[in-house]
Amino acid sequence: MPGRAERSATLRRMSTKCWLCTVCKQPISAGKGYVLIMDPRTNGHPLPASQRQQREEEDVAQRRRDAEAAKIAGDVERAKEIEAVVAAWDRVKAPPVPGQLMPLDVSDHLMVRLIEYPPVTFKAVHADCDADPDGKSAYWFGVERAATLDQWVAWAHHLAPKTWMTKKDISLMLAFWYANRDLGIPST
Ligand SMILES: [Zn+2]
Repeated sequence: MPGRAERSATLRRMSTKCWLCTVCKQPISAGKGYVLIMDPRTNGHPLPASQRQQREEEDVAQRRRDAEAAKIAGDVERAKEIEAVVAAWDRVKAPPVPGQLMPLDVSDHLMVRLIEYPPVTFKAVHADCDADPDGKSAYWFGVERAATLDQWVAWAHHLAPKTWMTKKDISLMLAFWYANRDLGIPST
């Protein structure tokens, strides 16, 4: 067990270590780069949670139509493949029955990922390493505005009420402070 002084020294290191560029892996000094919060599919501004859910619903509906079309075309194998994904989706997304434990099926969860809209993406980049600095429609702020863990937490608190931040996205945002620095999240 590390002593208290040692532990607080570790925490201090964790809270001051600066942002590393996702592209070149080098530290980003103040004024030289920014944190990007973006949609994983367009790299633009994150979509509101309701729109992401709508995309998922459209995707499932399309797969159901594709399965029917495959059946009509006599492609039984293809129809089965698509139906397996849709059935996994229906099982995972079914409302929980009170008092009944849902068995966790790993293959169901893997198949569901084909449909699930991925969470918001976080990146830290040098302005010079950003492939598309002028077309930037993502949410962003300079690294100097999130120089300490306190400031990062303040940003997470500020963004939490946004329609485009889900509980999962906020959790990933907090974790990104550590992931960007190749640090594990401190244990509780
Ligand atoms: Zn860089």
